[in-house]
Order: sequence, then C-alpha cells, then structure tokens
Amino acid sequence: MTDFLQLQSLKTLQVESQDDGYIIHAEGTGQPDTCPLCGVGRLHGHGSQEQSFQDAPVRGKPVVIVIQRRRYRCTSCGKTLFEPVAALDGKRQATARLVRYIREQCFTKTFAALARDVAVDEKTVRHVFADFIEDIEAKIRFRTPRVLGIDELKIIGQYRAMITNVERKTVFDLRPSRAKADLLPYFRNLRDKDAVEWVTMDMYHVYRQVVHETLPQARIVVDRFHIQRMANEALETLRKRIRKDLPTRQRLKLKDERFLLLKRLHDLNADNVERMREWFRQFPLLSEAHALKEGFLSIWDHKRRADAEAAYGRWEANIPAELAATFKPISTAVHNWHGEIFAYFEQPITNAYTESVNRLAKDMNRMGRGYSFEVIRARMLYNLKARKDGAVIEEVLMDDDEPAGFEFVTATRLTKARREKKVRRVVEYGPYIPTLCRLLEEGHFE
Ligand SMILES: [Zn+2]
Repeated sequence: MTDFLQLQSLKTLQVESQDDGYIIHAEGTGQPDTCPLCGVGRLHGHGSQEQSFQDAPVRGKPVVIVIQRRRYRCTSCGKTLFEPVAALDGKRQATARLVRYIREQCFTKTFAALARDVAVDEKTVRHVFADFIEDIEAKIRFRTPRVLGIDELKIIGQYRAMITNVERKTVFDLRPSRAKADLLPYFRNLRDKDAVEWVTMDMYHVYRQVVHETLPQARIVVDRFHIQRMANEALETLRKRIRKDLPTRQRLKLKDERFLLLKRLHDLNADNVERMREWFRQFPLLSEAHALKEGFLSIWDHKRRADAEAAYGRWEANIPAELAATFKPISTAVHNWHGEIFAYFEQPITNAYTESVNRLAKDMNRMGRGYSFEVIRARMLYNLKARKDGAVIEEVLMDDDEPAGFEFVTATRLTKARREKKVRRVVEYGPYIPTLCRLLEEGHFE
C-alpha cells in the first residue's frame, strides 16, 4: 500500500477519515547525524512534542498532519532543535505543498473560499498571497515609462491610481489609492524615475503636486479628453435646465436629442442639423451654448500652442453673460491648469485608451466579486499573456564582459566598446491594455 502522504520526509502512521477532512498521524523520517546549527555536535534525544500542520486537500477535503516531533539537544553548542522535516513550510503551521497549493489557487478562488477549502484562516491565505506577490515583484520588473499616464479607476468601491505607459499602451502599476500619502512615497521610490519625461493626467491637484515633488524633470500634460469633456458637460447642464420647464411630450423629445447636441457639428447629417435648428429657434440660449461647445472643441484643431492659446482667449471673451455661470467650470479649470492644458500642443499625448481602461475596471469589479484589491491588481498586472504582448525584444550591443540582464546600456559604452556583441533581451513594459480587454471579454478572469 502506498503511503497516504507520499512525502519523503514524513511517514504515515495512521489515517483518520472524518466527514470534514483527514487527520493523518505521521512521523519524521530523517534523523540528522550532526547538529545542523553548528555543523559538528552530535545530537541527543530531548523528548518530543505533538505538532499539527495543515496539508493540501485530498479528494476535496482538508488534511491535518499530526506529528509527534522529536526534539534534540546538541552536545557541542548546547542548543535544542526539532527534527528537521523538509516537507514543512518552516514559516507556518503548514506543509510546503499547501503553501504552493494556495499560491496556485489564489488567483481563481477568493481568500474566503480558499481558506474554507484547506481549513486555514483567511489571514493565513492573505499572508501566503502577500509573500507570493513579493516573490513575483522581485523577479518581474517593468521598465519605467518615458511617457507616464495617471488614471483613476474605481475598484471595489474606491478610487485607485492606475499608472500606465502611454507609448506602449501598457499598465505599469495599480496603486491602492490616489491619496497623496500613498502616491508620494510610491513615486519617490520609483526606479529610474529620471526616465520619466512626460506625465499625462486628469486635473486632479494631488497628481500634480506629487509629480512636482517627485519627478521635477517631468512635464505635465492634461489629458485633453478630460478638459474637452467639460464643454459637453456645460451644454448638458443647460439642456437639462431647459428640459425641466417643458411640457412632458417635449421634455421626452429633448431627452432624445442629447446625443445630437453632444456630437460634433461636422459629424451630423443635414436632417439632424435641421432638427437641432428647430430647438435652437425655440431656445436661442441652447444655440449659443452649442456654438460655445463647438468653439471650445475647435481650439484643438490648432497646431501651434500660441494659436491655441489665442483661440481660447477669444472664446472666453465671447461667452455671453447669461451663459457665464454654465461655462464657469471650464474657465476655472483653464485658469488653474493653463500650462498643463496647453502643453498638449507641444507634446500631443493623450491616454487614448481611457475608455478601455474604464471598461476594464467595470469588468474587473464584476468578475472580481469577493476578491481583494491586491488580487485584482496582481491578476491584471502579472497576467502572462498580456505581459508578453506588452514586452519588446531589444537588440543591444554589449561588452563581452558585461553581465547579462542589465536594464540600460549607456551611450558612452556603446561608442567606446570594441569587444562588443549583439545581445537580444526581453524588456517588459507591463500588461498590454488591448490584450487585458480582450481577455476580460473572453471571460478569462472569471
Ligand atoms: Zn550544535
């Protein structure tokens, strides 16, 4: 009969099968000849102690191993020790294979379900997971973005900061919150932070403060969709105000016209334009607000910063008094973020994938029910397929004696090196956002 445990360092003595699991009585098989602590002393028996360890489940049932564990005393160093058992984790009252089992399952089962399956408390599962992530993070490093994006995502009821590589369309990191107290140390300790040249963000003052304090060389660009969106929001405010005072039939109709008003004028067909004009005849203010919206958006048709700034100046000066309050949020935002908004015309970068990112967050929340933020973060960040799609193979010249696997090759080294050789290496930038979206759609994370 084969041994129930099938572990080299433990021999099964007795198997108790119960409804809610197995209790296995076992003993250690390895008796050391010399003291492992000092390496020279001989060991003498020093009693024993009953200890129990949780093991990986068998046939869906949790397993506890009870060991009458021998104790020794060293004749040389005088220390006492328990008999070494290789199958045990060493850090916890668990076998090493249970820890492996938890690591394998923690991405696809909630901590609560997993804790139930293996009959340990949830805290233990959480600790095993934390160690696992620490191991992963020691091995996997994403190259710091040249153009870094900061987005916010609502995951499990809280806003989190998502750090992206704008050029590579990858997720660089996901932070538990967007509070200054969290982001400041994070960016202060960011590796190769000098490599960040541009940061794109929405108009959140904490982000700007953090970047100024920790990445002084980086220039900030406000993501243009965030500021452009405000023009549509102003128009919406007015439409809703007008709607409130209309008789029901007309009210419903104006509700349907929402998308007409929000679309760019040049995207509408002749019928649509005519329908809109009818509303404008009835509500001249709506017409003016619409013209302001269109005018504001057309600022981004300019190529040069100075032209865009001048266009904004003219636009602001032309806001009629009746609409000043409606468009006030825009003029306030431009006032507070002038440099960062118009920096776009020097470096036209934008988080064009913000939409997919928001959908990503929604799907994550739906699929990640019962998971902690840390698990959702790890599943997203360390997904193998998405990481592979976000990685590039670089060919670099390298000195013969240069150790492999370093991150950057400096220009001086390249020019002076004579004994150089070409080396190909994989540079990881983080999970590729389109791949993450596709995997979510396919239900991969369910
Ligand atoms: Zn010793």
